[in-house]
Amino acid sequence: MTDPLISVVIPLYNEEEAIDELYRQLTAALEAYGAPYEVIVADDGSTDGSFEKLSAIHQRDPRWRIIRFRRNFGQTAGFSAGFDRARGEVILTIDADLQNDPADIPKLMAKIDEGYDIVSGWRVDRQDTFLTRKLPSMVANRLISHSTNVQLHDYGCSLKAYRADVVKNINLYGELHRFIPAMASGYGVRVAEAPVNHRAREHGKSKYGISRTFRVLLDLMTVYFLLGYSTRPIHVFGGVGLISFGLGVLIGLYLTLVKFALGQDIGTRPLLLLAVLLILLGVQMIAMGLLGELIIRTYYESTGKSIYYVREELG
Ligand code: UDP
Ligand code: MG
Repeated sequence: MTDPLISVVIPLYNEEEAIDELYRQLTAALEAYGAPYEVIVADDGSTDGSFEKLSAIHQRDPRWRIIRFRRNFGQTAGFSAGFDRARGEVILTIDADLQNDPADIPKLMAKIDEGYDIVSGWRVDRQDTFLTRKLPSMVANRLISHSTNVQLHDYGCSLKAYRADVVKNINLYGELHRFIPAMASGYGVRVAEAPVNHRAREHGKSKYGISRTFRVLLDLMTVYFLLGYSTRPIHVFGGVGLISFGLGVLIGLYLTLVKFALGQDIGTRPLLLLAVLLILLGVQMIAMGLLGELIIRTYYESTGKSIYYVREELG
């Protein structure tokens, strides 16, 4: 078998009824495209007949590789397992539930050929409920685009294409798969968007509820921090700390003046409490920044990661 050019990575959890149709549609799309490919399905601890179906497919078509998790680890873990094993130069991700349309694959590949490192699908006419899905996702997309400077209409779309070296550099935790383009922007990648088809879920049901919205917001904070300050935590914490400490000292000086120059009693002034609070907080923040600096040094030096990323080198 020749080395695959494309690795399709699919996290799958209890999608028994969709699998055969997924196989048909993906195979049709990929064979029409013509490049050598492999499909890596991460069975995320399915409790229905998904794994049996998948292993039957693997018997018939060895281009399909199956990873079976011991339990349900979540979609992000599925992506991560697929990325670790992918041998292709381009990694495509897609949902198993057929809400994404494999026929869009050539569109994404065309953008990759144009030289982009990441191509994100944009579900222009998204077939999900408005209030619990489309609205929160609209807000989230605005927020993420604004705070990470990677302008995408649809961070949540699973249909995406990545140049393999870009995505293999990213460590995924929690539910961070949605933020790959944002995190990769820290490496200086070129990101494009392609409008894609989206279909309503026909089989099974969605694995997520409204609580996802809050997790996305918290994740955004993590990503924002990692992107901007992970190599210089003292600048975040130290900055806030200095302001707080400075304010506290100023208020303290003012109160000292009131006491000694004007001879007033300051023991009952609420400002006194504020001054103490601000000074203590300031000292703590600065200490936290310094701790952060120690931690990132340990991180970079023990993992051998560098603080820069090279696109290419001549000579
Ligand atoms: N999925 C998974 N593990 C999970 C939850 C979901 O592998 O714990 C897979 C699921 O099988 C599907 C994809 O992730 O292929 C997207 O999930 P879903 O369709 O439920 O999300 P939605 O489209 O509703 O946002
Ligand atoms: Mg879905």
